[in-house]
Formats: sequence, C-alpha cells, structure tokens
Amino acid sequence: VIEIGTPEHSVVTTCAYCGVGCSFKAEMRGEEVVRMVPYKEGKANRGHSCVKGRFAWGYANHRERILKPMMRESIDQPWREVSWEVAIDRVASEFKRLQEKYGRLSIGGITSSRCTNEETYLVQKLVRGGFGNNNVDTCARVCHSPTGYGLSQTYGTSAGTQDFDSIEHTDVVLVIGANPTDAHPVFGSRLKKRLRQGAHLIVVDPRRTDLVRSPHIEADYHLALRPGTNAAILNALAHVIVTEGLINEAFVRDFCDRDAFEYWMQFVADPKNSPEAVSLVSGVPAEAIRGAARLYATGGNAAIYYGLGVTEHSQGTTSVMAIANLAMVTGNIGRPGVGVNPLRGQNNVQGSCDMGSFPHELTGYRHISDDATRHAFEALWNRPLDREPGLRIPNMFDAAIEGSFKGLYVQGEDILQSDPNTKHVVAALSAMECVVVQDLFLNETANYAHVFLPGSSFLEKDGTFTNAERRINRVRKVMTPRNGMADWEITLAIAKAMGFEMHYDHPAEIMDEIARLTPSFAGVSYDLLDRLGSVQWPCNGAAPEGTPVMHIGGFVRGKGNFMITEYVPTDERTGPRFPLLLTTGRILSQYNVGAQTRRTDNVIWHEEDVLEIHPHDAEQRGVRDGDWIRLDSRAGSTTLKACITERVAPGVVYTTFHHPQTQANVVTTDYSDWATNCPEYKVTAVQVSPSNGP
Ligand code: SF4
Repeated sequence: VIEIGTPEHSVVTTCAYCGVGCSFKAEMRGEEVVRMVPYKEGKANRGHSCVKGRFAWGYANHRERILKPMMRESIDQPWREVSWEVAIDRVASEFKRLQEKYGRLSIGGITSSRCTNEETYLVQKLVRGGFGNNNVDTCARVCHSPTGYGLSQTYGTSAGTQDFDSIEHTDVVLVIGANPTDAHPVFGSRLKKRLRQGAHLIVVDPRRTDLVRSPHIEADYHLALRPGTNAAILNALAHVIVTEGLINEAFVRDFCDRDAFEYWMQFVADPKNSPEAVSLVSGVPAEAIRGAARLYATGGNAAIYYGLGVTEHSQGTTSVMAIANLAMVTGNIGRPGVGVNPLRGQNNVQGSCDMGSFPHELTGYRHISDDATRHAFEALWNRPLDREPGLRIPNMFDAAIEGSFKGLYVQGEDILQSDPNTKHVVAALSAMECVVVQDLFLNETANYAHVFLPGSSFLEKDGTFTNAERRINRVRKVMTPRNGMADWEITLAIAKAMGFEMHYDHPAEIMDEIARLTPSFAGVSYDLLDRLGSVQWPCNGAAPEGTPVMHIGGFVRGKGNFMITEYVPTDERTGPRFPLLLTTGRILSQYNVGAQTRRTDNVIWHEEDVLEIHPHDAEQRGVRDGDWIRLDSRAGSTTLKACITERVAPGVVYTTFHHPQTQANVVTTDYSDWATNCPEYKVTAVQVSPSNGP
C-alpha cells in the first residue's frame, strides 16, 4: 500500500469501479493521493469499502499511462506523439472525409460506463449533433441492456426499484446470476449481514458461489441450473405460485393490467412450465423449485437481486421480464424490503444508459422517434436530429465487415478485449479506416487504432456517476488532468473541429443541460448534490430530494404489465466436440479487463484467471489441479490453468476475464439477446484438454 506522508487536505469523491458507488475521502498532499478513506457519510457505503476502491487507484500515476496524443497513418506503423491540435484536427478531418466518401451513417461513437454522466452525455450529443446520425452505443450494451428493455416493458422505467437500505427490511432474498461477494463487495457484505440476522436465501446460479455456503450463512435453496436455463426456472417458480394459489390478488387487482395478467396466467400455468418439465432442461430437482417458489411467495418481504448471469444470455431480456413478473404476481414491489434490483456491473452503467447513449433513445429513455422529445433537443442544440435509431455495437462491427461503417470514436472502452468473439471484432476494426481510441493506456483496441487520445482518470475529473440504486454521486477532481485535457473537453474539441460548437465552462453546466432536457433529472444540480451528498432519480418537482423506492402506489407506466416469457433454448449447444458449458464471472481484487486494477497495488493478491472444472470432468481429461489446459470452442481457443473444484457441477466450467493473456472472449460466441443484442457471454460450449502452456 502506497502511503506517502501526512495528508494536507481531503476531497470527497466516488469509486470508479463497481455499481455500488462507494464514496471516498481522497486524502491529499498537494496533488498526490496519500490514501483513499471510505467516507462515513456516503449513503451507498456508509464508511465501508472493498480492496478495489481502497487500494486500486494508483493506475492514475502508472508509468504505462499515455499522456500525449498519438497518431499513425496505418496500424502497422509506429505511433508518433503529436499536439492536441494536430490530433483533434486529424480526427475531425478523417471523420468528415469518411462521411463525404461513404455517407453520413458511416461513422459512430462508443462511450463507456466508466465515464461520467456528463462525458457520456457529450459523446451522444457529438454523435447526434456532430456526426448527424444515431450510431452511438455504450458498453452497457454488453452487460445490462436487457435490464433497460425488460424493466421498461413491465414497469415503465429502466432501473432498479429499490435503494440499498431496502435490504434491511427483506425477509427472503433471491439472488440469481450474481455473485455480490466478489462483484459488489460492499453491498454483498450488507446482504450477508441481513442473512446472518435470519433472512432466508435462495440462490439461482450454476456455480456454488460463497453466498450458498459461508460462515453462518447457508442458502435455503441453491438451484444449480444448467447455464442458459434462467427463463425456464423463473417460469417454473411462477408456475408454482400460480397453480398453488400463492398470488397476491389485491396487488394484481389494484396495480396490474388485468388482461395482460390473465393472458400470462394461462401461459405460465401450462404444464410445460411445471417444475417437473423444467427439471428436465435445467437439471434442478422439481422439489427444490417448488420449495423456493413457496418461500419466495410466502416468506414475507421478498427481494430479487440479479446480475450479468441473468442479462448476458440470448434470453437476457426474457429473464428480466420473468423476474419482473414474479415480483408483481406476489406483490413484492413498491415498498422497502422488496423489489427487483439489478446489480449493475460498472460504476456508471445506470448513468450511461440514463444519458441517452443507446442508438434508439435520448436521455431518460425517450425514444428518438418521439417527435416532442426530439424537437426539444433540436431546439436546444440548434441541430436537426435523425429520427431513425442508429447502429448498436454488434451492428457497427457487422457493417464494418460489410464495408459500410468506416470510422469509430471509442471513449473509455476496450472493445477488443471485452466484446465477444474477438476474431470478429478484430475483423471489424481492421476494416475501418479511422479508429480513434480515448483511454488511459494503450489497450488492446488501440492496436487497431489510428489516433490515440489520452484520457483522464476519475481522480482528475469533475462529474457524476449513477450507481445501481439510481443514486447520483459527485466525482470531484483531486488532481489536474495529467494528460492536459479533461475527457469532456476532448469531446468538445472534436465537436468544434467538426463544426458543431458546444459551450460549457464546467461539467456542472452539462448537468444543468441534462436536467433541462430530462424530466427524471429535472431537479438535479451540483448545488443539490453538494447539499444532500447524493440523490436518487427521479428527482424533480414531484420528488425534490429524489426517490429511494420506486413504484409506490402504482407503476411508472401506469399498470404493471405481465409479459409472456417463453423459454427458448440457446442455439449454442453442446455436442461430442464441445461437451462442456463455459460460464464466466469476476474476482474480488480485479476489475473487468483489468486495465486499471492490474496497474495498482491490487497485484499483490496475484489472482489470475483460471478454469474451474469439476473433479469428474478433470479426471476424464487427464487434467490435474494447476495444470495448463487448452480451452476450445467453435469461436476460438485459449490456454489457462485448471482449478479442480466442486464449486462447478459436472459438465460446467467457469473462468474470469481480467487478464489479456487469457483472452476469455476469444472463445465466446456471437449469439446475443433477442431484444438488445447483449452478448451471450454466459453460455459457451467448450472442450478442455491438457496443454503445455501458452
Ligand atoms: Fe465500493 Fe464497488 Fe468501489 Fe468496492 S469496487 S469500493 S464495492 S464501489
């Protein structure tokens, strides 16, 4: 741990890793961080933190950080440093050239959930106003886009229903496709505290996460389902509730659409959704499904927490809607202790979605084709906007390979390492004529870039992040941007060079514009955030100090909407060549592709990506614990070390994706969610064989 003397002053800011959004006091000596102290007044963490927020901030000063803009004529040439003016001019002139040659739709931008709300807002504004199209997307595409679509269809808003404090009132916790101990540690600790106080627990996960059994905690039910069968299990839980008369009739009568409910009742009561039928596809004993359903429906306040194990499937949206159905049919919505709670992966997944960075939506989840909304933006931005939705990230890749998409601006996202089917991404990037990467380090995507714009770390920024409970937290600058330009200023400079002037002197003014254009943010300002510490949207005239629990006394959309959630098996099938199913997750000390955490003190934990394999499967293949193995799928292969464990069931293997050497996404496929194109990272048919190493 680096501690470099006595602090002289401190600044309160927000952790830039996971969706818990912990507040920290950055204790400073001049412009050097002495230490990060969890902030007791932080409403998301109340003085707690994990090893990432506490120790993994040193990457801001890492020697590999790029501090000067760079460019090159082609990707086989070496980089050369240039001034900001030259780099920005190259970006603008190349993008203009591409649009003249290939058309207005031939370029686009990708923003990141690592960026602030204000930065994300500006990227979509640049694309819509400066590029003149809607080819903008965010890395939330590859994690929680099904949450946005699924919850908006059922409840009318694309966000979790509760605050974290709600867990204090929960009697039954259903955790599905999430491992909060590693991925959301501060909330995970709070959850465990509630479990130790006696709350009941149902875990739905192919892997035996530590929630299933840890000191003083034992899940009442662990439904260890076959990867890819979430929707079937959720329908079976609903089937038991409906056929055993465990419905909350009063809630359904008062708050839900009657026609949709009756149609859904017929669907879910069908014997194909019975525990016995679902047991055959999921591998979960029917009695365990029945017991879990009864506990969820009758155990008091029941809350569902879910993660990427739900969304990153070909039926991600189906499962989100099935979760929403379950909470509605039991009346577990609209008060503390209940609800549907997506555990957002990155620090600002919620915010990047709120900020209009999807190709079909403006801020606050309003469709781009809605004339009144679009006209309001056009009037303020003084630009006509395209009413047709633009390309999603996977569509951009496909269009690049087909030859119609030629230029890409990527802010804060390593698409090559984090998107599925790496070979496909390489082909797409190689086919583009101008790839612009804005990041802290020369990441994997930068290998295919023509211009590199050095970005700044969260320690060098003013702005806001919005966490998994819709809480807007301030990010405060503790040091001058080492790269000489804040991220929002870079986007502004590109826009200006392309002839689209925007004028802001500080990110606070960007938030004022967001508030002006977005009803759910209408009351948000930096003054309010300074006064209250943080605020949960909706924050407006009806809720001037924000909204901890949503849908009290009725759903945002009016009546709650039951959706039909037919289980459809994924097209990714096991067979003689690829008999095992791979699923993926995270390690506590590392974060996503590890670009930051691997360059901090957290390397002392030496956690590496390994392949968890059941002893039975390992023995069949002659693999011993710690051996190098080769992992093959239809998409590609990689090598990593084996970890023999009964945490995974026979037939299932598991790995993490934090190290570029491992390249777990070389093996993942092109299958994606039917509604949102969120990739199916969580189900890949693979084979494992002994190897001599990489
Ligand atoms: Fe909190 Fe998440 Fe940061 Fe850990 S990584 S300190 S839990 S926000």
